Amino acid sequence: MKKDIYVTRPSLPSLEEYIKEIEPLWESHKLTNSGKLHEKLKEMLKQYLRVGYISLMTNGHSALELALQSFSLKGEVITTPFTFASTTHAIIRNGLKPVFCDIKPYDFTIDETKIEALITEKTCAIVPVHVYGNVCNIDEIQKIADKYHLTVIYDAAHTFGAEWNGQSVSAYGDASVLSFHATKLFHTLEGGAVICHSQEMYEHLYSLKNFGIRSELGIDEIGANAKMDEFRAAMGICNLRHIEEEIQKRKVVYERYQENLTDIKGVTVPTCTGGISLKQNYAYYPILLENYEEREKMYNRLKQNNIYARRYFYPLITDFDCYREHFHSTETPIAKDAADRVLTLPLYSDLTLSEVDEICKHVANKRLKESCHV
Ligand SMILES: *Cc1c(COP(=O)(O)O)cnc(C)c1O
Repeated sequence: MKKDIYVTRPSLPSLEEYIKEIEPLWESHKLTNSGKLHEKLKEMLKQYLRVGYISLMTNGHSALELALQSFSLKGEVITTPFTFASTTHAIIRNGLKPVFCDIKPYDFTIDETKIEALITEKTCAIVPVHVYGNVCNIDEIQKIADKYHLTVIYDAAHTFGAEWNGQSVSAYGDASVLSFHATKLFHTLEGGAVICHSQEMYEHLYSLKNFGIRSELGIDEIGANAKMDEFRAAMGICNLRHIEEEIQKRKVVYERYQENLTDIKGVTVPTCTGGISLKQNYAYYPILLENYEEREKMYNRLKQNNIYARRYFYPLITDFDCYREHFHSTETPIAKDAADRVLTLPLYSDLTLSEVDEICKHVANKRLKESCHV
């Protein structure tokens, strides 16, 4: 029986390292509500990401919902359909209406040249996603936002550790939201955060993630419960110690894929569009096949060989049962096409190079033979 290879495999610190971090909890019995480890992780993240304010949350989705809520938005939000369902859910669960903008075919991020045409007097915000770690056109998006007085909240769940123009990608926008889910590059088991730019917003988020409690007897807002507990914070502290090594190891895997797959007929490999301004984080390795049928064949062929690639992001959000009566994927044809052709290959730090070669052999197999015939 061959070893199963999944699209990702969460990294773990050594058991000793984690135990050492959580041991004091048996002394303090302070397990959540901004405990010592929570504060320690917060400071470590502020330093690592070089940001002023970060509010830790129980998961990325809650972080997204509360970031949106904190701006008291009303009306329409321009966003991308090429993302995880969480982005759209968070908009709708805030009583806002998503307006879907198409993406760019080469890096899958929102097409900034198509945003302005979607703006109406009801538009209040733009929620772009740095999908797969590809950075949106931050400058152009900010220009549009400034011109029309719109709030920009980035879903930066895929860009942990990435930098653009010498700054952490998550430092941009009015707020950026991170996910620390187990499958992400940096994780706290479950977890997430909002990066913001004022003490005022930080305190507002603090209240929103704690039921809206402002004082011992006062609740002045309908908040949620989205606090990060000490066990998650401890996992984050351990993982953050090893983050550079994690990114380096992924880089090696990523580059091996590029080497192996760049000249394979019918396989489009990722292109880094950020140029020298971008420090990548090597979080994902999405390829595009010629069409839907070829993608399905490839997915199944890999699966038969115990390689579980994933069709992220397929179906497109607007094609999910809960959304398809209200939205039309034909209005974002490039996103629809990408969803039909994309396949995300396994990428994690302890994927060995011989495993990468094995995966690439199956990806390339039939295609190499095909080109031999010509
Ligand atoms: C993972 C993810 C989320 C949600 O984060 P959770 O921590 O799983 O709640 C939101 N948006 C994107 C793009 C994601 O990949």
